[in-house]
Amino acid sequence: MTVIGLDDTDSRDAGLCTTYVAARIAAALEVSGATVERRLLVRCNPAVEHKTRGNAALAVHTDADPGRALDVLADELDAARTDDPRTNPGGVVADCDPDEVPTAAADFAERAVRDLLDRSEARDLAGELGVETVTAGNGRGLIGALAAVGAWSAFDEWTYECISYRERDRWGTDRAVDRASVVAAAESGYPTVWDTVDRVEDRAVCVPRTPCPILHAVRGDDPEAVRAVAGHIEGESVADRAVFVTNQGTDAHLREVADPGSVQPGRSYRLTADVTAAPETREGGHVFFAVGENGSALDCVAFEPTKRFRDRVRDLRAGDRVTVCGEVADGTLKLEKFALRDRVTTTEATPDCPRCGRSMTSAGRDQGYRCRDCKTSADGPVSVPIDRDLTPGWYEAPPCARRHVAKPLVRGGFDAPTHPER
Ligand code: ATP
Repeated sequence: MTVIGLDDTDSRDAGLCTTYVAARIAAALEVSGATVERRLLVRCNPAVEHKTRGNAALAVHTDADPGRALDVLADELDAARTDDPRTNPGGVVADCDPDEVPTAAADFAERAVRDLLDRSEARDLAGELGVETVTAGNGRGLIGALAAVGAWSAFDEWTYECISYRERDRWGTDRAVDRASVVAAAESGYPTVWDTVDRVEDRAVCVPRTPCPILHAVRGDDPEAVRAVAGHIEGESVADRAVFVTNQGTDAHLREVADPGSVQPGRSYRLTADVTAAPETREGGHVFFAVGENGSALDCVAFEPTKRFRDRVRDLRAGDRVTVCGEVADGTLKLEKFALRDRVTTTEATPDCPRCGRSMTSAGRDQGYRCRDCKTSADGPVSVPIDRDLTPGWYEAPPCARRHVAKPLVRGGFDAPTHPER
């Protein structure tokens, strides 16, 4: 078997995308008589600063001869060349079974999803593995290309994406996709097929807004189901269609930590702690709160684009026990989902006068409360039940704000009741 890895062929302006280049490589190999066993779409660390959009790296698993694979890879990377200095393509051909890549490649793939790597590490690994490489520009794409080669061994949870590509002469123009057919197709595939639309925001999440060659990309847990849903969407003609195996929707990026003080920027975490500062909505509609555990604290934020998710976050109270998931940047965890574990059920309030029923007033510092009219008094505040809708379980950002790699609650396997957004 031969594994081809590639990355960083896209530019914001030229409007290509690496999935398209991988699909072309697979098609060219098939035309020449080879079998393509799998097209792999690996979302690397979403915190990487150099990404164009979703930090995708691609692999093609084939029985093609490695020499032929290298020729096709080099041709397609060359054809995808842009003058954009931010585009730095990298490609790798490994002469091995994707299940049996060296441990160093699998480790590298895991770190590419959860950590920040540099180019020299990728170059060293390519030398150590003795794989063929093709690079252009500064060769940064080699990081993702090697990660794509190691990913099949590194991870064991996979989902599917059916990508439908546009006719070339339509690239960069408005996409003609029939909204009603997207909604109906999404409905027919749910819950096996997820994140096709955001019903509340009325958005066709599967249709990109960038000038790339993709018409729509349908995600789910079953390859036949994603293909069927894509086939039900009506619109402009589809030039090509391919199903990719992906780590999207798997939470592969999250590291489990116990101490909020141990997090580092540019990585994503899952941690359990107490809410120490109640949610506060700040300028721009972003909702901030803080969690703490064993004396260390961490700020968390649900950004404005997470829309209705912020209402769930606003319902949190100081003292609640939560598990939070998200990327850390500038000392703040950008919330993707959270679980309410234990909730505080009471809060302190000013007592009412037992005689007239009106709220008492403070009698002075540490003096308790009294009723001015009735002269009654109370030693301190009273405990009253909190009235709120938020019940224990998992809550998530809606499909319109979902990170590619974040696991939607509808996929199941969570350790508490779930409240999926759709
Ligand atoms: P597209 O896939 O559409 O080309 P993108 O959003 O995936 O766009 P790229 O243009 O591929 O972004 O840019 C991401 C760059 O970051 C690539 O050069 C890739 O090799 C590199 N990269 C990937 N993972 C890491 C990582 N963990 N640390 C450092 N660099 C990384």
